[in-house]
Amino acid sequence: MPTTRKPILAANWKMNKGPAETEDFLKSFLQKLQEKKNFPCEIVIAPPFVSLAKAAEMLSASNAPVQLAAQNASQYDAGAYTGETTMLMLKEFFVHYVILGHSERRAIYGESDEVINAKLKKAREAHLKPIFCIGETLAEREGGKLEEVLGRQITVGLDGLGEKDMLDTVIAYEPVWAIGTGVTATTEQAQQAHAFVRGLVAKMFGKEVAEKVRIQYGGSVKPANAAELMACPDIDGALVGGAALDPQSFFDLVKNACTVVEE
Ligand code: PEP
Repeated sequence: MPTTRKPILAANWKMNKGPAETEDFLKSFLQKLQEKKNFPCEIVIAPPFVSLAKAAEMLSASNAPVQLAAQNASQYDAGAYTGETTMLMLKEFFVHYVILGHSERRAIYGESDEVINAKLKKAREAHLKPIFCIGETLAEREGGKLEEVLGRQITVGLDGLGEKDMLDTVIAYEPVWAIGTGVTATTEQAQQAHAFVRGLVAKMFGKEVAEKVRIQYGGSVKPANAAELMACPDIDGALVGGAALDPQSFFDLVKNACTVVEE
């Protein structure tokens, strides 16, 4: 992981932690962060929508080096879209990042590559930084379709974005079979996929842009395996679900991941 790309460690809480639990988590997590002076990594937390206000209030009061992400948002500007939230609404909660294309959104809510592409463009219009998730299922990997799937997700998902948009986008490679399963991709599998994805970005946006784009790994990252994943040359951080729900666990994960940058 070259130091020219600042690693990014992001907690995706999914549908966990309302405002009260968010407050409990942050009280503890922010206190732990004070144990360490500098963080060579970006730290991001993505709570559910209803907890963004509480998180924003606590983070701005503490001046902590933690940024907020939303877990999804609409590709539309306003109107009759019951239950949806616009990208611009998120800005009122000091949100900097938005997770788009998570495999749960793709599988459970039927989000296509085209819809995700529309969301990415809308996020950039609102000056939000997308955390753009891609990844293959086990059947696709075992069927020899890894490159085809990642190729389609990248080509369609990033279509029409400019260079600056790409530089402000983080890609999260998350093999679906590793999400929430306790099975992590081996460092070889993860590095190989990341290098392939960087190559695709180079074809679309040029080598210089591709060298600067951060590609996170996601899928059962824990405090114990964060450092070895981060040591891979094309892995620039992690998107973390289960291990980011407990403040001690996420803090240990951040600390362990940072040791690789500090070496
Ligand atoms: C995720 O949901 O993005 C994720 C990687 O989850 P977990 O860390 O629990 O596998």
